[in-house]
Amino acid sequence: MPPRKTGHAKAQSFPAPNHDHAACATDALARAERLCRARGVRFTEIRRCVLKAIWQSHAPIGAYDILAGLNAKGARHAPMVVYRALEFLQANGFVHRVASQNAFIGCAHPDEGHDSQFLICRKCGTVAEIANAAVSTALANAAPGFAVESRTVEISGVCPHCKDHSHA
Ligand SMILES: [Zn+2]
Ligand SMILES: [Zn+2]
Ligand SMILES: [Zn+2]
Repeated sequence: MPPRKTGHAKAQSFPAPNHDHAACATDALARAERLCRARGVRFTEIRRCVLKAIWQSHAPIGAYDILAGLNAKGARHAPMVVYRALEFLQANGFVHRVASQNAFIGCAHPDEGHDSQFLICRKCGTVAEIANAAVSTALANAAPGFAVESRTVEISGVCPHCKDHSHA
């Protein structure tokens, strides 16, 4: 068995609480725009608005909260409109659904297919995505004969930033 990887990837994958998040969101929207153009699909206004709402933070947000947020700004979207936009964003890899939270987070690397492992901080709600191929391989090897269809893993715990604060 290969040695267990510790710390490194995890610590880096959690965005620091005071990082320039506006830059994260701007980058994500620009990336989506670029990929949509390359794929010949339309990045409509509602798709952009929903993606922007999801990139408000690194904590997952549910469909109803997205809808409420958009409609609070004067829009009058029906839930179905938001659901369809979410389906599109998921299908294109721009967002992932975090099943245990029934909510969505933005993906920072939608240009490449990957299995996701989500580290979910139960204190601040931040979710970090690691896409570690070794984890996927280990899972596949651990389930011989089982036709794996989803390799998404959700792990709850306390992020490095919350952990540092708790004994301050
Ligand atoms: Zn950010
Ligand atoms: Zn991803
Ligand atoms: Zn945290």
